Amino acid sequence: MKAAIFQRPLARRRFLFLMSRLSAALALGALPALAHGAARRVNQLPEDPFYLGVASGDPRADAVVLWTRLDPAVLRRAGLDEDVLQVDYEVAADAGFSRIERAGSIAAAPELGHSAHADVRGLRPDREYFYRWRIGGVASPAGRTRTAAAGAAEVDRFRFAFASCQQYEHGYYTAYRHMAEENFDLIVHLGDYIYERTWGENLVRSHEGPEIHTLAEYRARYETYRSDTDLQAAHASAPWAVTWDDHEVDNNYAAQTAEDEQTQEQLLARRAAGYQAWYEFMPVRLPVGWQGPDMPIHRRLRFGKLLEMNVLDTRQYRDDQACGDGRRPSCAEHMDPSRSLLGQAQKRWLLDGLASADARWNVLAQQIMMAGLRAVGEGGEQLWPMDIWDGYPFERRELLQTLADAGTPNPVVITGDIHTHWAAELKPDFDDPASPVVGSEFVGSSVSSGGDGEDSNDYGTALLANNPHVKFFNAQRGYVANTITPAQWRTDYKVLPRVTVAGAPISIRKSYIVEDGDPRLRED
Ligand code: FE
Ligand code: CA
Repeated sequence: MKAAIFQRPLARRRFLFLMSRLSAALALGALPALAHGAARRVNQLPEDPFYLGVASGDPRADAVVLWTRLDPAVLRRAGLDEDVLQVDYEVAADAGFSRIERAGSIAAAPELGHSAHADVRGLRPDREYFYRWRIGGVASPAGRTRTAAAGAAEVDRFRFAFASCQQYEHGYYTAYRHMAEENFDLIVHLGDYIYERTWGENLVRSHEGPEIHTLAEYRARYETYRSDTDLQAAHASAPWAVTWDDHEVDNNYAAQTAEDEQTQEQLLARRAAGYQAWYEFMPVRLPVGWQGPDMPIHRRLRFGKLLEMNVLDTRQYRDDQACGDGRRPSCAEHMDPSRSLLGQAQKRWLLDGLASADARWNVLAQQIMMAGLRAVGEGGEQLWPMDIWDGYPFERRELLQTLADAGTPNPVVITGDIHTHWAAELKPDFDDPASPVVGSEFVGSSVSSGGDGEDSNDYGTALLANNPHVKFFNAQRGYVANTITPAQWRTDYKVLPRVTVAGAPISIRKSYIVEDGDPRLRED
């Protein structure tokens, strides 16, 4: 698998050397020291290399990750594409950069596609900051970001958006243009940031090339998606917390098993390429323990006493979809209680965290719908969607029962993946009307995947009728805005009339409220 990343032994040695320096720097909290020695300082660049804009993410009370990536074409023309380059950043308290609070340098290496990730420390909690990058006399556009409140601090109000599923060919990223205007405290991306292949009709634009497999192909795909200026504006407007779903590698893959005829080895090579490209393009901390196709990305973010967010990965460790995947009647494999979606290590980490959680609101930011969403077959039989939590009913029950037994304060699940808005109440047993509601779930529609969409359709109406714990369905494109206070969680489902034409207006289609201490959904 490593061959996909390391073409030459020399490059691999230098890469490992850089990574070991980076890890040591991270461990010591001394990132600015990194760039000296290994990185080359560029005095003058004739062209602007900041072709994909800027981003920030994974905020802590004293730190945030700043991101950019240097244009390979600009570096090639300047004869710098093989070099490790020094990139400078500055962080200011004001948009005019008159009060610089932090400045430093980071190495951008060709092995990581000249991406730059600076984990800037020493910032003040719960503050707005502005940042920009510089190399060779050229400054990047500025970005706005925000640190988290300190763990024990009171927070009156927190606003965040979440989104997922942005097939580039299916529509414009109008949702991001509107999102950027809201200056959120945080934007969460729940996966399908890119798509590895083309499907559908009425494509409004093209991501070049066929289904992607290699690092070079994944990089090119991310470049196309990130070239969108609406997406760049959303990245520049707020810190992001990003996780992935399946299309960052391969549709409906499960751990080491591909969707179609690929060997495990091929899928793992693909995973190594897809995961590396994801890291290169996302404003995330270097995942500790990353090695080829293994990249642990589940993590916790805390925003004072108000909110803790468990960012999950439901792809990398899961047992293969049961009964042949898709919507199926149950089978023996499906009813095997040992099957896992999270994998044992992530599950332990999550359940331990939820059992000792002390924030007012405890969020599970993850990919696939948790509430039961069974359909009825032509013969009246129940059909289980095997790719989502319905396909892993024993682990789902264990998780939801843990929330009940541990008394985790106000659990809220946020979800992407299925290109439709839903709201649901979570119960340990979805077949038992007496099973208590232990949490709330908000599922966000796609940014563009699926094209224009519609307010309602027969598919949604039938599923609502068969799943009484599910309260709301909408099949338009958009995102979900959430306003959280100690007393109340408010979710606004935002929709667009169309995405095949740019510039559509956005509106709130539906709002739900959850009161502190009562996980039931209340329409607003
Ligand atoms: Fe999707
Ligand atoms: Ca998906």
